[in-house]
Amino acid sequence: MTKKIEELARTYFPEAVSLRRLLHEKPELGWCEYVATSVVAAQLKALGYQVQTGPSVCKADARMGVPSEAILEREWLRARSEGIPERELEPMRGGFTGLIAVLHQGPGPVAALRLDLDALPLTEKTGLPFASSHPGVMHACGHDGHTAMGVGIARIMKAMGDQWQGTLKLIFQPAEEGVRGGRAVAEAGHVDDVDFLLGAHIFGRSRPEGDCDLVPGASGSFATTKLDAEFTGRAAHAGSFPEKGLSVMPAMAAAVTALYGIPRHSKGATRINVGRMEAGGGRNVVADHGILELEIRGAGTEINSYMEEQARRILLGAAKMHGVSCRIQTAGGAPSVVSSLSLCERIRTLCLEQFPQIRPTSYLQGPSEGSEDFSWLMERVKARGGQAAFPLLLTDTAAPGHTPEFDFPETVLHTGMTVLSGVLFDILKK
Ligand SMILES: [Zn+2]
Ligand SMILES: [Zn+2]
Repeated sequence: MTKKIEELARTYFPEAVSLRRLLHEKPELGWCEYVATSVVAAQLKALGYQVQTGPSVCKADARMGVPSEAILEREWLRARSEGIPERELEPMRGGFTGLIAVLHQGPGPVAALRLDLDALPLTEKTGLPFASSHPGVMHACGHDGHTAMGVGIARIMKAMGDQWQGTLKLIFQPAEEGVRGGRAVAEAGHVDDVDFLLGAHIFGRSRPEGDCDLVPGASGSFATTKLDAEFTGRAAHAGSFPEKGLSVMPAMAAAVTALYGIPRHSKGATRINVGRMEAGGGRNVVADHGILELEIRGAGTEINSYMEEQARRILLGAAKMHGVSCRIQTAGGAPSVVSSLSLCERIRTLCLEQFPQIRPTSYLQGPSEGSEDFSWLMERVKARGGQAAFPLLLTDTAAPGHTPEFDFPETVLHTGMTVLSGVLFDILKK
């Protein structure tokens, strides 16, 4: 059977490459993945999958960091101008991107694979012939590759259809960057019937894994929360009546210095970053409005909660100290990624026994840098007794992720298609 999977991965590899390049050329930011959703939906429908798009994919009020209506509309219109039929785009209007594709084959386990669709606000400098044609937006995290791999896996599993039973679910999630979309997919209930859940990420190989191609499961990524704090005071003439105003400036300045002074945690690493601060209107006006955009991270969900509690208290306290108000909104967040050990073991054994050309690490679980909102879906599956794993597909990238020179060798798509189809098939085989 593994021979057949390898053969099919080879057959569908060129299609995966062309889809990856098409997506790379038309990158879209979170909640605006109109082109990507439509292209993937069309291909999966043609394959015979039941495809769901529109508001049922993400629970509306669980979406985090959704852009303004104006931006959502501008991007929607751009997708239409790029030739996506309006009837396909209509259900997604207003930031309802992403899709769920299902293939039912009678009774049996439910296995799901999650891919992410979105790009980053970066100006590409790779010089690739298929470089971004959308100014200021670039696929610099490999999500174009993940999506293309997902469609490739859909093809392989469809072609193997007479040899497995149960349900295969492919989840193409919007807005992973900034960890904004995972919770909304989880809360829409799409993994509530899932017994085995897989995700995957292309990952730069400059680490102690040596020549390996795969870490069976990531574990212990940073849990994180992204906060927007909006300060409101009262404007006044700075020379004539300063006492009649309430300036947000000293409150925000006090908040920032205090945030960086949060005590470390004895149980693990923490991070804090105020990434954006904007306030006031002019030199001679008491500033009545300002915004802070910050993020905190913690090695594990508990440590992140500690950081969040401290940060919220400081923001509100600093506002109170200066008589202004502060409204805090959660712009993103995710618990720590923790892969199920038994599923990691299954993935590693499968590589060693069936796909010897894919070399797994000697250890089952490795840390992944940064944060990843696949954790919302994993937690939901594990809570009902299912298993979830997030393998890292190791490769030599041209530059680190989230930089304008980022690129990856497309052969990693072949590796991903082979091993992920292999695991899904192993779970669902007759
Ligand atoms: Zn990323
Ligand atoms: Zn990513």
